[in-house]
Amino acid sequence: MKQSSPSEQAPNANANANANSQHDDQRALENSKHEEISPSLFAGTAWQEASKQLAAVTKQDVQKALSRAGQRRIEDFLALLSPVAKPFLETMATLSRDITRQRFGNTMRFFTPLYLSNECHNECTYCGFSVSNAIKRLTLTKAEALREIAFLKKQGFCHVLLLTGESPHRVGIEYIEAMLILFKQHFSEVSIEMQPLESDEYHRLHSQGLDGVTVFQETYHVKNYAKYHKKGLKQNYGYRLATAQRAAQAGMAKIGLGALLGLSPWRLDSYFTAMHALELEKRYWRTQISISFPRLRPAEGLALEAHKASKDQLFPDEADIAQLIFAYRIFHNDLSLVLSSRERPLFRNNLCTLGITSMSAASSTNPGGYVCYPDSLEQFSVNDKRSLSEVTSAIGKKGMSPVMKDWMPEFA
Ligand code: SF4
Repeated sequence: MKQSSPSEQAPNANANANANSQHDDQRALENSKHEEISPSLFAGTAWQEASKQLAAVTKQDVQKALSRAGQRRIEDFLALLSPVAKPFLETMATLSRDITRQRFGNTMRFFTPLYLSNECHNECTYCGFSVSNAIKRLTLTKAEALREIAFLKKQGFCHVLLLTGESPHRVGIEYIEAMLILFKQHFSEVSIEMQPLESDEYHRLHSQGLDGVTVFQETYHVKNYAKYHKKGLKQNYGYRLATAQRAAQAGMAKIGLGALLGLSPWRLDSYFTAMHALELEKRYWRTQISISFPRLRPAEGLALEAHKASKDQLFPDEADIAQLIFAYRIFHNDLSLVLSSRERPLFRNNLCTLGITSMSAASSTNPGGYVCYPDSLEQFSVNDKRSLSEVTSAIGKKGMSPVMKDWMPEFA
């Protein structure tokens, strides 16, 4: 679509923009009044209590959760993701599919990730960009970003998620803002997955048009969090936990949450992710929450097999991920659920009608990986390497229509 210059815009466009800006300011003001989400909901004895509740789930609890009319409760979610619910998987799949089709139609929303930098000062034991890995570091210039943009636009993408490592000195607020302004000229929706920022920085980016912030807690288990995050600012569990709230307070329209499944018992991490989403929704009902289900993938320096072999049920298999998706959908009918190209093609094809609402496709996880530096080191390896047209064709055979653009910030 042709971009109209300011002089070509309809006479009331500026008035609308001003009204939107006032509307956003009002929303940010209202949002700033909400009390902090208490870390005690996730830390202290919370984990042990949830663990006991999970172990106590009965078949009747699962049946009750499935048949409950109206809004389901957090304990229903725990019952549906428990091992006791495994024999109900088919019933859950049918219910999840029906709810999703009723709420979202036969559509699948697509976005693309774009890595701008692999600079990082943190040591996370599961990540190829970890400061302890001796890799070539690079950060895209504007000219390089424009080459990546041209490639992605040619594929047909309109929603982009910009990612970096965490290096506030090399990839600070000035860089992020400059890139945001550049990307907003080409994409209808721009979100970021970068280092946690301060409230005033989120306000600044929001006023430049930032639509969403994704921030995964990785694991909600405090001791495990410390074990996997050995160096750098990311060691601060509480600061990371409060990041989504700071972003919502600034008026972000979309917040993405998730736990990196495989670090701690996946059922409990998922339970706490859902709690986090509910706490945010209670305070910021106009912000749309999405949930992702990233499983650990092979990465430089990661002993993945040890996580898979753990007796603590850290690592979910595909049937577990399917169960988790159905549990989320039945528990919360309107959540946006994202399945990335970490998962293999057949699995993504099979799940596309059953609960998921958003997918990435043709993804590269290295900076400049689409055009400029295709051989730079990946953050992790993707499992679905199909092109966008291959993925849309596959979901089309299941009766699903791809949606490349469903977002106009002016109407948010
Ligand atoms: S997960 Fe993020 S913060 Fe941790 S090493 Fe990787 S890029 Fe850096």
